[in-house]
Order: sequence, then C-alpha cells, then structure tokens
Amino acid sequence: MSLDSITLYLVATMVAALLGAMLVFFGKQENSPALKWWGTAYLLGAASVALWTAAGDKLGAPLYLAMNAIGFVACGMVWNAARLFHGRTPNWPGLVFGAIAWVAAATLLDPAASTLRMLAGAAIVSVYAALTAGELWSERRKSLQRSWPALVVPAMHGCVLMLPVVIGGFLRPNDPQFASSIWVTVFAVELVLYAVGTVFVIFMLVSERTVATHKTAASMDPLTGMLNRRGFSEACSRVIEREAKAGRPVTVMIFDIDHFKSINDRFGHPAGDEMLKLFSTVVTGNLRISDLSGRIGGEEFAALLPCSLEEGVLVADRVREAFETSGVVVDEGPVDTTVSIGVAGGPAGTELDVLLAAADTALYQAKRGGRNRVEAAEELPLSLDWRRQSAGRVGVPRLQPATA
Ligand code: GH3
Ligand code: MG
Ligand code: MG
Repeated sequence: MSLDSITLYLVATMVAALLGAMLVFFGKQENSPALKWWGTAYLLGAASVALWTAAGDKLGAPLYLAMNAIGFVACGMVWNAARLFHGRTPNWPGLVFGAIAWVAAATLLDPAASTLRMLAGAAIVSVYAALTAGELWSERRKSLQRSWPALVVPAMHGCVLMLPVVIGGFLRPNDPQFASSIWVTVFAVELVLYAVGTVFVIFMLVSERTVATHKTAASMDPLTGMLNRRGFSEACSRVIEREAKAGRPVTVMIFDIDHFKSINDRFGHPAGDEMLKLFSTVVTGNLRISDLSGRIGGEEFAALLPCSLEEGVLVADRVREAFETSGVVVDEGPVDTTVSIGVAGGPAGTELDVLLAAADTALYQAKRGGRNRVEAAEELPLSLDWRRQSAGRVGVPRLQPATA
C-alpha cells in the first residue's frame, strides 16, 4: 500500500488546526492560559506544515527557514503550555531556542546534506517532546496518579520522530530515497496520532485536575482553610486504618470555644469569624505534621493524633494554654479566649465515631466543670459497642475502657 504524502499532510494539518481551534476555544471559556497556549501551538504547527506542503519547493530559502522555525516555536509552545498548566512561568529562551538552533543548523550545514538537516530537525522536536514528557511526569509523581499517557504520548512522539532518520541513517546510509520516503509517510501519520493523542492527554489532565479541585473544595472549610467535618472524617478513616495495621493507638479530641456566642453578640459576627481563624492557627500550630485537625461545626474543632491518650491530653492542654494566652485585645480591653477540650483514646482500630462520642462526653464534663479545661474520657461509649456487636459485624475490635 502506498500512501500519498500530500493527502496525509493535508489530513494532519486539518486535524491539527481543528484541535487547535478547539483548544483555544476551551482555553477562553475556562480562562486557562495553558489551553490557549496548547491551541495556539497547534494552529501555528498546522500553518507551518500547511505552508510546507502547499508551497513546497516553490518557497524561497528564507521563507522556508522562517516557516520551519515557526514549527519549532510551536513545539516549544507545547512544552511551555505544560509548564503553565502546572503553575510555572513560560521559559522564553527555551521557547525560541529550537527555532534558533534550526536556523543555525540549516544555514551552516551543506545544503546537500538533507539527511543531516532532517536529523537536526528531528532532534530538536525530540528534545521538546522529552521536555514536555518530563514536565508532565514530575507533576504526575506529585499528584496525578493515573496519567501515564501524559508521559507516554510525548515520549513516543520523540521516539517515532527519530526512528525513520535512525533507520535511514544507519541501515541504508547510502540510500537517501529510503530515508526521505519513510520519513515523510511516518511523520505525517505520526503527526495525526500525536495531535489527537496529546489532546486526549490534555483533556484527561484538565478533567483530573477539575475533579481534584472539586473534591478538595468539598472537604475544606473556606473560613479557616482546615478540613471540614466530611474531609476530617475521611482523612481520619485512612489514618485509623494505617495505625490499626501497625497496632498503634489513636487519640481524638474535640475543642469547643467557650462562650463563643457572647463574642458574636458583643463584637459582631465578623469578629467571631476572626476568632475562629485565630483558633484554627493555634490548633494547627500546636499539632505535629502527622496529626489531623478540622473544623467539624460552628465553633467546634476536632483533631486525631496517632498517640496514646496520655500524650493526647498533654497536647490538648498545650492548645488550651496557647489559646488562653493568645492575647486578643479590642477597644474595650482584653477578650477572654478560652476553650474546653474533651479527649478520648482507644486501642488500635477503634472507629472514629466511637472516639468522637467519647470525646464529646468528656467535653461536656469539661464545660460542666467550669470550662477552660481538658477532660479525658473514662471509657468508650458502650452503646456504640453494643449496637455493633448486635449487628453481628466481624472484624471490629472489642472496645476496652480507655486507660486514663
Ligand atoms: P459554650 O461555652 O457552652 O460552648 O457556649 P457557646 O456560646 O460557645 O456555645 P453556643 O453553642 O451557645 O454558641 C455557638 C455560637 O457559634 C452560636 C453561633 O452563632 C456561633 N457560630 C457558629 N458558626 C459560626 C461562624 O461561622 N461564625 C461566627 N462568627 N459564629 C458562628
Ligand atoms: Mg458548641
Ligand atoms: Mg462553645
């Protein structure tokens, strides 16, 4: 089967132009500079290939060089779009380096050495493909888990591009016809596959990121930036499971700011909000990186620590003291900032609901005991234990009274 190279290039150009327009359109709609860069790169690439195919040898040497240079700028733009997508700034020298290298190579090399020129061009495109793959790979390791095509597509692009040149150059070095004919066909087919594959990757990355953003928003408290009840409970389940496997105890605490309603009543709701933000910084500032904390209600916060109840009580008292001495002053004078804390610990594998219920009981005792104090739960609630046992569930650890 012989493929007509002009037709192939025409198809490649049209596909690239169509995808480019689509990416620019979505980039504008989503206000995403990365998508706009990707789209513009496609349009430039399509224009460059279209000119090359249509005009071919009729182009004068300077125009031919300029048009090729635009193609390499387009490759640089694809790489820079990947940078922008990850919140980095465009690399301007890198963007034009390929074009400059190409012009230099084409000017310096003997015009008869067409394979060598081809090799130089393919090498430049491959470097950009590798840079793009590297950019997407480093981000993949950080957050995006299922984006292996983001690496594979540009990497294959680089390899396929080099292949005909290598085959032509090494297997049949004295047959320029062989190299150029394979080159022309493979490059055109590959161009279409790469263009479509890359757009697939781009949309996969964009959608994965959108899902991640929504997921984060659904588990965050916008006022304090802490986890909300849902986020806290999801994160806790993972930590409890991990600690249970290691046979280590966990401790949960609930914080409830004292007389918070009166802060709102006396100084207004915005002042109350500021107080909540202050308390969240006190909590996070006094916990370790391995501890979890969240805002689980209006002026109620919770934390889960992978430690014993005794250690947990010490941490809780540190938070209580830090909040008390945080020194909030208004025009009328200093404001009382105190918090009551209930702490509950349990053996490895104790469920969050059980620990929270016990901590809540302890918190109630702290309030009744005069506030601004830490109380530890004497025991875990038997009712939850009883309910679970009567449901006949297996694998749930027997609840023991916590060692206070
Ligand atoms: P106690 O010492 O017994 O805990 O008394 P309290 O006043 O802290 O508790 P109460 O449950 O009576 O009041 C909680 C108040 O928290 C009532 C509600 O208006 C306020 N609140 C809940 N969410 C927010 C919020 O997001 N911002 C502000 N400013 N206030 C809030
Ligand atoms: Mg409350
Ligand atoms: Mg309160």
